[in-house]
Amino acid sequence: MEDRWDDQAAAAAVERWGQRCGEDFALRLYSANLIGRNGDLVLHGGGNVSLKRPFRTILGDEVDAVHVKCSGHDLATIEPGGMPALALAPLQRLRSLDSLDDDAMVNELRRNLFDASAMTPSIETLLHVFLPARFIDHSHADAVLALTNQPDGMQMIREATADKVAVLPYVVPGFELAKAVADLYDANPSVEGIVLIHHGLVTFSDDARTAYGRHIAIVSACEAFIAERRQVGLVRAGRRPKVSYSSPKKPAELATLAAPILRGLIATPTGDDDHPWARSILEWDASADVLEFLNSESAEALAKTGPLTTDHLIRTKRHALYVPDPAWTDAKALHAQLEDEVRRYRAEYCNYLNEGSEGIDPSPSVVLLPGAGAFCWGGTKHEARIAADITRHTLTTKTKADAIGTYASLSDEHLRAMECRSIQRAKLNAQSDRPLESQIVVISGGAGAIGAAIAETCAGAGAHVVVTDVNEDRLRHVVGRIEVLFGSGAAAALVMDVTDESSVRAGYDDICRTYGGVDVVVPNAGIAHVAPIEDLKLADFRRVLDINAVGYLLFMREGMRVLRQQRLGGHIVINSSKNVFGPGKDFGAYSASKAAGHQLGKVAALELAQYGIRVNMINADAVFAHDDIQSGLWAEVGPQRAASRGMKTEDLPEYYRGRNLLGARIRGHHVGNAVVFFARNATPTTGATLPVDGGVADAFPR
Ligand SMILES: [Zn+2]
Repeated sequence: MEDRWDDQAAAAAVERWGQRCGEDFALRLYSANLIGRNGDLVLHGGGNVSLKRPFRTILGDEVDAVHVKCSGHDLATIEPGGMPALALAPLQRLRSLDSLDDDAMVNELRRNLFDASAMTPSIETLLHVFLPARFIDHSHADAVLALTNQPDGMQMIREATADKVAVLPYVVPGFELAKAVADLYDANPSVEGIVLIHHGLVTFSDDARTAYGRHIAIVSACEAFIAERRQVGLVRAGRRPKVSYSSPKKPAELATLAAPILRGLIATPTGDDDHPWARSILEWDASADVLEFLNSESAEALAKTGPLTTDHLIRTKRHALYVPDPAWTDAKALHAQLEDEVRRYRAEYCNYLNEGSEGIDPSPSVVLLPGAGAFCWGGTKHEARIAADITRHTLTTKTKADAIGTYASLSDEHLRAMECRSIQRAKLNAQSDRPLESQIVVISGGAGAIGAAIAETCAGAGAHVVVTDVNEDRLRHVVGRIEVLFGSGAAAALVMDVTDESSVRAGYDDICRTYGGVDVVVPNAGIAHVAPIEDLKLADFRRVLDINAVGYLLFMREGMRVLRQQRLGGHIVINSSKNVFGPGKDFGAYSASKAAGHQLGKVAALELAQYGIRVNMINADAVFAHDDIQSGLWAEVGPQRAASRGMKTEDLPEYYRGRNLLGARIRGHHVGNAVVFFARNATPTTGATLPVDGGVADAFPR
């Protein structure tokens, strides 16, 4: 493992944070970032570091303090706010207690914070408190875990590190572990670190450089030990990985087939009629490492073993669901097979959890399908990506462990205790009450003013949005805006031509691989043309019809296909037009095509109700822009529409505002709100039309 300490970068960190926080703290943050950015050491918020130093209170007193990373912060990006100071002396005194439960421990941590508003420091804080060194680095390094998850792990670690570390058998993280580590250190004060069996590595020193350097040196020694043993192991007969699975189809093709089926099967019934399913978002991983693992002969046995460390339980559960021989040739057979497998997994998981399983979903978080890759699920794309990263590291590390010995995780009893522990689950329970959480919304014409506003409003309601359009640059702009507001992964751009059957189908395939499926389909792409019927050229009429009617049909039809595969119900919300009930002259092509889309929606409502899919229409009046995104439709037809009304183009918005009962200017987010209203199942409504026009009497639904 590369030692990434760089004196210049360290000096830059001191430059950046030193003035405000002092040199020690700056170097602490610097090496924390080095550890956090190395996926072979920690993954997404895993691991922990600390610093002991004096703290000056508001009264000017100097008090010994310890800075520890808070839960929810990531070492890769941690800044001073992520490592609040706690009073050291009163926490050190806790070591004299025989026991301390989680609630009492958290209470002690919180009341010893100097900043009362700081987040709660890590469950491993007392480990940092009880050890005397000023700088402590703790990781869950892959190489260390490959050795500590072995029946003779203690011996292997001693051999690998030439006794530079003390080794502690598994102890439950928290107060018990903190005491055990401190006792072990007291008995071996010359060691450079302590390896925790089934858990990870702790190194320490009174300076940042040495603590980090020791960490890398010990991990490197474990890596070298593995490499050497592996070399020997490969020569041994029977250990060489054999390919047991191959498919003529590409992983992407298989993933397209499996993703929506799986998304439907692992959704958890909530018992609430209005919101019957708790859904998940997918991160699909078909990287070479994962596919190689799935093709190996030991894949099934290893997939069923426990996690590398209990820290991973909340993301990837006790083990993945591995399906040995997926029925790739037939979608129906695949569905039946996966349904069986998921049912069995759930039953076994409930069995494993036994009592204390309340609130824990027994559905798999990771499904491994040979030929297609790993299907990793989370409440958000971000969470799904964490599960995928952990899965990739887990599979690789298990392979290595298996090559040098026997992978043996912590016992089920200990795993269950950690999985059911409320202090662990609290990390996941920061769930919001946003109405479209874990839902996937796809919008056509998403680069335009209304489409972009619908996408933003749905993302604000918690949905992951797929924005489709023909113009890639404009799409990127819309998705960029959403990611700034709601985080990376909240939106995806997809180039799609709604008039081209294969483009629409390929687009939905792409969505299935990106997020796992679809919940809300919003046909919205539209164009207009101004001409009296007498002068309406057939080519112009067909062009408008092709996008506004055929486009709506294809976008809906392919969306239905995915909705039906998931079997979770869902929504189609058609952006129709005020024009359907209140047409205007010289607008025949637009009016006729929009009426066609509207009517298709009503028929779809009749056909899809039996599957729990609701179809509703929104009749909005003119929307000219959404922030800096101008309406393409109005840019094209605005001047002619203005001329036919005998006014200037720039006066159009005011004209439209003035003609409705409320005198309201219709904006894109009003249409977005209407989509969210339907998609959240607020009322049992299908086949209905909701005007978003400020009240235009001529266009009252009839
Ligand atoms: Zn740990």
